[in-house]
Amino acid sequence: MQVISAQFITSNTDYLKCPPDKYPEFAFIGRSNVGKSSLINSITFHKKLAKTSQTPGKTQLINHFLINDNWYLVDLPGYGYAQVSKEKRKEFEKMILDYLINRKSLTCLFLLVDLRLKPQPVDIAFMERMAEEQIPFYIVFTKADKLSQKQVDDNFKHYQEFLLQSWEALPKMFITSAEKHQGREEILASIQELIDS
Ligand code: GDP
Repeated sequence: MQVISAQFITSNTDYLKCPPDKYPEFAFIGRSNVGKSSLINSITFHKKLAKTSQTPGKTQLINHFLINDNWYLVDLPGYGYAQVSKEKRKEFEKMILDYLINRKSLTCLFLLVDLRLKPQPVDIAFMERMAEEQIPFYIVFTKADKLSQKQVDDNFKHYQEFLLQSWEALPKMFITSAEKHQGREEILASIQELIDS
């Protein structure tokens, strides 16, 4: 898929205020600082569509972008940000879960994890919650350019083995680098496939 147009539509804290759900929707989520904004900008080839920042936990809104006038890319707030209060964190979590559970046009969630780290409890818990709620998701490993090819292979294999200790099957996975635009074509192709199916 070619990204011909990418347009910011709205930012919301409440899923009920999101734009009318007339297009298939693909949401992106991950821990703060995982590289979500950078990946969104890489996927859409827009330098500043999603705001990247050095300040973790900055995106606290549900951001809708209309791509090619036929699907929504949704930038969700980062989760697991330790430096905000417990109440604030609960508030974000509720906002995110309300959106994920209730948004009818949500087709698939792309869940980002940093390929440099071993499986993090907060990510695993989030994936398990998604499975419980029957929300389809794919796993996107980020920042591959920060590792050697051997480390990429080892960490990827280790993550899969870890999940298979308690899961029967693995979701689709992508290895990406926003820096090198690695993985963007694969992600866009999988979105196209879901739109067409
Ligand atoms: P977000 O909080 O998840 O939206 O993360 P950002 O996209 O703002 O990225 C957090 C930090 O990681 C920034 O300093 C980015 O420049 C850096 N970063 C993000 N993606 C990559 C990547 O693919 N490669 C490298 N080397 N750095 C990245």
